[in-house]
Amino acid sequence: MGTIISAKYKGDCKNCGSDWQVGSQICYQKEPKAICSDKECFTEQGGTIETSRSQGNARVDMANSWTKNKPITVKLPECNIDDKIKQTSELWDQFFVVAHHRAHDLYPEEPTTSDRFGQIRSKMMDQFMKIAEINK
Ligand SMILES: [Zn+2]
Repeated sequence: MGTIISAKYKGDCKNCGSDWQVGSQICYQKEPKAICSDKECFTEQGGTIETSRSQGNARVDMANSWTKNKPITVKLPECNIDDKIKQTSELWDQFFVVAHHRAHDLYPEEPTTSDRFGQIRSKMMDQFMKIAEINK
């Protein structure tokens, strides 16, 4: 499997004659040997290049998908909700509302729709819950 590297030496292709300078992006494969700045020619020589699907770039793709706000799919399990859990959920709502207003008081410039606001609110909820726990 070959990779795209920046050339350490200037050179030219024995196959198509294209040349490259030090630092140019070229396709390079050790075994079987294939080298060219042109991807098609490189492939003709028996070279293969990692596609963006494989490991190295997968993490980058993942990071990009976060920044692009790609929707995520969630599959909720089917189950009955216990009354106790429902009460917990109502308690959670209270913390959420309090944290929302408090975060807005403290950061009036921050739009409440922003990711950052969401993070602050979420952190505040955690803190309020901890304090409530301590004060029990
Ligand atoms: Zn070539």
